[in-house]
Amino acid sequence: MIIIFWFVFYIPINLLASDFPDIFGCFCEGGIITGRLESKDKVITIDGKRIRVSEEGDFIFAFGRKFKEAITISINGESKKYEIEDKTYKKEIIRGLPSRKVEPKKEDIKKIQSDQKKIKLTKTVGETKKLFGKTFLIPVDGRISGVYGSQRILNSKPRSTHKGIDIAAPKGTKIYAPSNGRIILIEEDMFFTGKTVIIDHGMGLISIFAHLNDIYIRPGQLVEKGMEVGEVGMSGRATGPHLHWGVYLENISVDPMALLKFKFTN
Ligand SMILES: [Zn+2]
Repeated sequence: MIIIFWFVFYIPINLLASDFPDIFGCFCEGGIITGRLESKDKVITIDGKRIRVSEEGDFIFAFGRKFKEAITISINGESKKYEIEDKTYKKEIIRGLPSRKVEPKKEDIKKIQSDQKKIKLTKTVGETKKLFGKTFLIPVDGRISGVYGSQRILNSKPRSTHKGIDIAAPKGTKIYAPSNGRIILIEEDMFFTGKTVIIDHGMGLISIFAHLNDIYIRPGQLVEKGMEVGEVGMSGRATGPHLHWGVYLENISVDPMALLKFKFTN
């Protein structure tokens, strides 16, 4: 009797069930999406490329600054197409930087390379589990003085695009952790980013904070969303006190504003 009951009901329910979970985030350039599969054994691909799934079944994907018009997500053979919203990027002209910070001297190159190596390492050695929660908060109460993706002209010299946002606030303004994570880098004097903090939010997602005046936390420390991590300053390459907040999913630079707008699953 029990077996018959199971057989009659199990098959139709199973046929109707879709493997597609809710996907949260922004299908836009600079955006990031995440969701949770029923189990880590499900196979998810984006445009045919398999995406890593955490032990808990979470997946995450970032589009980067320039991305194609649409993607196809497949989960266990079921496919859906999503359009990716494109963005136009501004040109930002910044004058008055110390010339050595725009055109470094020969003796600065070694320091720059060693800084870059340390930052690069944090993009690959983090926690595979998801540490971040449902929402992100803006780490500083201030004015957005620089946006993600803009083409930068520094002291009349074209430089790389802006990989983050700038939030201008008086020196000493408190900086809060935008989401849960672990502190994986603290540096007192990097050439471009000055006093620098990197938070690992898990699953390859990191936040970098640059130009700080003071740092309150230690390497390895776990931080919760909203915890004070330091103070706004203008160390490194800066014309005034502000926080540079960069977000990366492994090597892909993400727009922090896209994180702030969305609620993620848990
Ligand atoms: Zn910046």
